[in-house]
Amino acid sequence: MDPNTASALRAIPSIDAILANTVVAPLAERVSTRTAIETARSAQARARAAILSGEPLTAADVSAMVGAELRALLNPPYPEIINATGVIIQTNLGRAPVSAPAGMAMERAASNFIALETELETGERGGRGNDIRRLFTALTGAEDALVVNNNAAAVMLALSATSAGGEVIVSRGEAVEIGGGFRIPDVLRQSGATLVEVGTTNRTYARDYAAALTGTTTAILRVHASNFAMSGFVSRPSVRELTEIAEQHGVLMIEDVGSGTLLDTAQYGLSHEPTLQESIAAGVDLVCASGDKLLGGPQAGIILGRAGAVDRLRRHPLARALRADKTALAGLGATLQHYLVGEAEEHVPVWWMISRSVEWLRDRCDSWSKVLASDRVTVVGSEAVVGGGSLPGMTLPSVALSVATSDGSVSRLAREMRLGDPHVFPRIEHDRVLIDARTVLANQDDALLRALTSVLHANT
Ligand SMILES: *Cc1c(COP(=O)(O)O)cnc(C)c1O
Repeated sequence: MDPNTASALRAIPSIDAILANTVVAPLAERVSTRTAIETARSAQARARAAILSGEPLTAADVSAMVGAELRALLNPPYPEIINATGVIIQTNLGRAPVSAPAGMAMERAASNFIALETELETGERGGRGNDIRRLFTALTGAEDALVVNNNAAAVMLALSATSAGGEVIVSRGEAVEIGGGFRIPDVLRQSGATLVEVGTTNRTYARDYAAALTGTTTAILRVHASNFAMSGFVSRPSVRELTEIAEQHGVLMIEDVGSGTLLDTAQYGLSHEPTLQESIAAGVDLVCASGDKLLGGPQAGIILGRAGAVDRLRRHPLARALRADKTALAGLGATLQHYLVGEAEEHVPVWWMISRSVEWLRDRCDSWSKVLASDRVTVVGSEAVVGGGSLPGMTLPSVALSVATSDGSVSRLAREMRLGDPHVFPRIEHDRVLIDARTVLANQDDALLRALTSVLHANT
């Protein structure tokens, strides 16, 4: 080892010295001695590696590293951010934010005892899903409802409980990957069912399904293709046609609608997304959907359908492993009540975002621009999307602030926004940094302006 390296290694500050550093000390005091020492030790190890690779760190670098590490441990996990991306349902940003009443219901369920599996009248044990079932029945006409962890769990449970050892018929155009590793052929295999693909990628007819039925067929599965769209020479039977074929042959009709909306997206200038009520009206045995996409509730997997079919799922051992937690049930219940009393558009954030008019968004951007009073900010037309695998290729007209960089680096400006207080996630588009007004929540104007003001001032 050359003498320079040896002396650099000797110069790495001791653990005591690191923990006594003025930045580190107040943070180290808040964690256990063991955590503080371990954090300092691992910084020393990194300092050693840096020296050996020829890029030595200063003592100040080492302390800064420990300070950052301790701060990361002590900062509130999963900080709140402002979504200015124009993507309404963003999986990376936690999908659907719930309404204020739903949030309060979740908080209440989390920090209190609640009547989860008990009857108030008798004090006897009651069904965990009774309140949710009542709401879904009123809203969709479904005979029964079951809530599990997410829609992936719902589909897995539906197939495992009904089709293990049997054949499930799926159109070639629907044997899709949804994202996050959720692939229909893999889910079927995992559930113990055999996938029978029918039709072609672009066209599948009712007669293709009918011809594929055998003595071991257990179900027909219809999957909403979600995050991709086919257009042109395409065809597939209606859910009602499939339900009739299933009924005639005594097999189950299962539908994975993906997003699970109760409102009609066509009312908002979007193409029509299948609703839960339509699936029930078409007579499916089971329909599976997400709680945190267009329904705008907490993460959950929703299973609606005929009493016998849903009960088979409820009694399957996987149902216990996949069940929803009490906060999700409480939040979902409060979300469904917005639909029940006809106030979803104003109260459920996903629908509030979808239903804002372009004029309203333009006024909002104009007033933001006035407050920011910076020649780096201009109001521009934009295009928002629903996201979350629903309505692929469809955009909603929107309005945004375009924020010019001070030094030509859009990625640096976007990073400053993300790291700001509060954290703002903009959209980078054609070398512009956009703050899309459609996805900034109703109560976030002041916070957004505070964050943007400090970014603009830091940069001038
Ligand atoms: C999103 C989606 C899923 C997965 O739902 P999660 O709630 O994310 O588990 C399954 N199927 C379809 C068609 C989807 O769009």
